[in-house]
Amino acid sequence: MGDRPVYLDNHSTTLVDPRVLESMLPYFTTMYGNSASKSHRFGWEAEEAVERARGQVAEAVGARASEIIFTSGATESNNLAIKGIAASRGRQGGHIVSVVTEHRSVLDPIHALTRHGRGFQVTWLTPNPQGVLDPEQISRSLTDQTILVSVMTANNEIGTIQPIEEIGRLCRTRGVPFHTDATQAVGKIAIDVEAAGVDLLSLTAHKFHGPKGIGALYVRRDESRSGRLLDPLLEGGGQERGLRSGTVAVPLVVGLGQALGLAQETREDDQARIGELRDRLRQGIMAELELDGVVEHGHGVPRLAGNLNLGFRGVDGEALMMGLREIAVSSGAACSSAQPETSHVLRALGVSDELARASLRFGLSRFTTSDEVELAARVVAATVRRLRGKARRSTSTDV
Ligand code: PMP
Repeated sequence: MGDRPVYLDNHSTTLVDPRVLESMLPYFTTMYGNSASKSHRFGWEAEEAVERARGQVAEAVGARASEIIFTSGATESNNLAIKGIAASRGRQGGHIVSVVTEHRSVLDPIHALTRHGRGFQVTWLTPNPQGVLDPEQISRSLTDQTILVSVMTANNEIGTIQPIEEIGRLCRTRGVPFHTDATQAVGKIAIDVEAAGVDLLSLTAHKFHGPKGIGALYVRRDESRSGRLLDPLLEGGGQERGLRSGTVAVPLVVGLGQALGLAQETREDDQARIGELRDRLRQGIMAELELDGVVEHGHGVPRLAGNLNLGFRGVDGEALMMGLREIAVSSGAACSSAQPETSHVLRALGVSDELARASLRFGLSRFTTSDEVELAARVVAATVRRLRGKARRSTSTDV
């Protein structure tokens, strides 16, 4: 492990699998053509590689290759899905249904639509205290004006998995487009856009051991629909079916395809092993602490195998993070270091600011080892005990 901290922040990003890096290298060095160049071999090989990757992505989510649009990542995919649908409405506006626990890259584009007096209304749903939505909530909120439902497949903080198949069915019956931000779920759980009735799905390579800066949006091709589902955000060369102009990032696309192909091959075995390690991490921490002093967020509901989110009562959140230099995890206090604030996800579930600040999100991956998990459990339990002891001593001197 050397002198670097143990990395347990895999919801944030992941290590690029060496096999993925290997697959990308030739597209930087020898086959560096532009996939839109039709007149020479450089262009043809690049195009072939891009189309191979498109096929790999499509297969992983049960789509047709022609339904996959490459983007710079899930933030762009979410923006394209939401603003693209809104733009295709012209000046008509409409009603959108989404959830308060979505990622900022879904929340903020929706907020932006409502701000400019452009005729958009939103129904924001709150999940139950475990973070799960009841499909009935969706059903009740749909109106004749609803133009989009956006519900993430799995949450990036507490790992809870939403009943997207039921939500998709409901949307389909009512003829409402359904978008899911599947960033944390792709490569980890089985996803089938047909079975789930999904019309738009966002994903990004760096969450499953691919490179950063490349993602995709699945856009259902529905021949029965009149008119376009989405308008593009970028105008230009008309690449990616006109929905995402700009030269395709060939090496990154190759890495995305390879990473997802590998994830699909090993998904079930990987997730079973990761789930066992996660349970060991939880037990290792819990065994050393009084149980009523630890809250497991998103407990007892369908959940990503690699996720564990624990809140420690009676501990100062900042001191906890400071005491954990040997492991790299996220706290409920800072979703992004640019804006240190308490997690909006934990707050939406009714967790107090104090407990949210003293909460840790652990994210395990294919590369996490049992030694790392044991070390993390030891360090976390020891730090929490030490800080609780300190808190008790300071309270007793106060009286
Ligand atoms: N959605 C979710 C659920 C995420 O976890 C993330 C990454 N933290 C994103 C969207 C944004 O992805 P990207 O970094 O590719 O823009």
